[in-house]
Amino acid sequence: MDQQRLLIGTYTAGVFVYEHGKTQLLADRNSGLISNEVRALLQDTDGSIWIGTAQGLAHWHDGKIDNLTTHDGLPGNFVVELLRCDDKMWIGTGTGIATYQNGKFSEMPIHQFDQAEYAFGFYPQPDKRLLWVATDRGLLRHRLDTDETTLIGRRNGLPFDKFFQLQIDGFGNIWMTSNRGILRFSEADANAVADGRIMTLASVLYGESDGMLSAQANGGSNPTMVESRDGTIWIATAMGVTSVRPQRLQLFAEHMPQVVVERITLDSEAVPLTDKLLVDAAVQRLEIQYAGLSFIMPTRLRYRTMLEGFDQEWRDKTGQNQVEYTNLAPGTYELYIQAANPGGGWSPSAKLTIVKQPFWWQTLPAKYMALASAILLIVGFTYWRTANLRRSEQYLLLQVASKTAELQRQAESLASANQEKSVLLDKLQQQTLALEVQAKQDSLTGLANRRAFDEHLLQEFTRAKRLEQPLTLAFIDIDHFKWINDKYSHSVGDKALIRLAKQLQLHCRAIDIAARWGGEEFSLLLPSTTTQQAVQICERLRIAVESMDCSDIATGLRLTVSIGLACSDDVAESWQQLNAADDALYRAKNNGRNRVESFV
Ligand code: GH3
Ligand code: MG
Ligand code: MG
Repeated sequence: MDQQRLLIGTYTAGVFVYEHGKTQLLADRNSGLISNEVRALLQDTDGSIWIGTAQGLAHWHDGKIDNLTTHDGLPGNFVVELLRCDDKMWIGTGTGIATYQNGKFSEMPIHQFDQAEYAFGFYPQPDKRLLWVATDRGLLRHRLDTDETTLIGRRNGLPFDKFFQLQIDGFGNIWMTSNRGILRFSEADANAVADGRIMTLASVLYGESDGMLSAQANGGSNPTMVESRDGTIWIATAMGVTSVRPQRLQLFAEHMPQVVVERITLDSEAVPLTDKLLVDAAVQRLEIQYAGLSFIMPTRLRYRTMLEGFDQEWRDKTGQNQVEYTNLAPGTYELYIQAANPGGGWSPSAKLTIVKQPFWWQTLPAKYMALASAILLIVGFTYWRTANLRRSEQYLLLQVASKTAELQRQAESLASANQEKSVLLDKLQQQTLALEVQAKQDSLTGLANRRAFDEHLLQEFTRAKRLEQPLTLAFIDIDHFKWINDKYSHSVGDKALIRLAKQLQLHCRAIDIAARWGGEEFSLLLPSTTTQQAVQICERLRIAVESMDCSDIATGLRLTVSIGLACSDDVAESWQQLNAADDALYRAKNNGRNRVESFV
């Protein structure tokens, strides 16, 4: 619109112009306009007119019309908003934003902002650094210098998604239209949200209760919201035009309403109003209703409360005219209540002192008693536990001592068993030794027995042959021993055998071996001894036996022996030597007894 003429867009008949009291058709389908459904108009600086329609963008200049659609680079044909900003034209469509510069479109998609599609309204800030865009997903803030765009949407506290137009008044408020009323919030707050400095945007929604005939502001086409020179904002709605005078609101905001407490209830029972409220210990629920005294916009009053001694900071009570507390701890509290008109400062506080009384057990003496009891209990328990532990320790010590003693006993009995075993072993060894000796000894005379003698003979014979030395074997037989036995007695015979054995040993050298061959026959092994030497030795033996005094055994007892010799030099095997010595003995017996014969 300029001073001379008014452009009128219609939904069904194209664009008209009102000039000098007359209305004339400017363009419609018949004159080349792409669609009769006009959604936005822009009187450009060069006198040409941009027409946003439901099927594309038309450019009217000097009676000629150029239609531009998606074929020419427009992101969508449903054009709802147009704005000239220096050499750039901004176009709001049903599929995002486009800019037009030097005959070319550039797309600026907005679906990345919560799937936004419609860019319904633009509001450039006078300094041209920010462009605000009302969309079907909230408010976009686009920085014209950096091209950075931020969404203020539902998650930032906007009550719904879809907004059509916005205006910033002379008092720093943003007014935004929707089909559910007009939203007002602080421009500074909106910037703080967009910058990420605060999360939630506080806003006030105006609707029918605030005087609008319809809360539904029209928005699918433009312009539907304008600011007149005196600062009044005019808004097209489904039921006529609504106007808002922000300067009056500002006056109201500066007015601070007085706050009064209206009603106090303790456990749902109303009590007389007072400045100092005594609350019985048993009371669980305390409710205080209050009111801000204002005739201007009583429903728009904001409240906040703080219960000193309970709250750390003010609690926002927007839309609530009561506060309640349950199960307050005993003590003294101060309740402060403040009210404010929208956009205005907080009123002086209404103040209420609340004294919550304690139960008897919550009193100080009762607490001391409880503490003392607890200490006594702990001390008692500790004492009991220590005594218990001591008893257990004592019991354990006794157990250890008894087990130790038992182990000691077991160790001792084991040691004694071991000792007995050693003694037995010793005995056994001695017996074995004795048996070994017995096995090779003649029990009557103590000489080697025949078995031992056989072993000696075999050993000495082999040795003599190896060293080529003579070994002589002699058999000694007592003469007429049967007769002795008969004449004296068998025991005398035994004693005689023992006496002869001793005589035999007397005539033996250390290397000689004497043995009892069997009965009254003895044998003598003389190593390194020739037959001649042996004959001499045996002769001496024979004489010694003959001269032996045996009267101590039996009166008149005399012994003589016959001896047969054989030397190893004369035979090849030891058994041959035995036979040879036996032969010699036989000859000695045959030749008259009491004599020595050698093998020839
Ligand atoms: P000869 O002069 O021919 O040797 O006559 P002898 O009687 O000595 O020979 P004989 O072989 O006939 O008798 C041996 C006797 O020796 C027979 C036996 O009673 C006796 N005699 C054998 N062993 C023992 C013994 O251990 N003790 C006693 N007292 N007599 C024994
Ligand atoms: Mg004999
Ligand atoms: Mg004999």
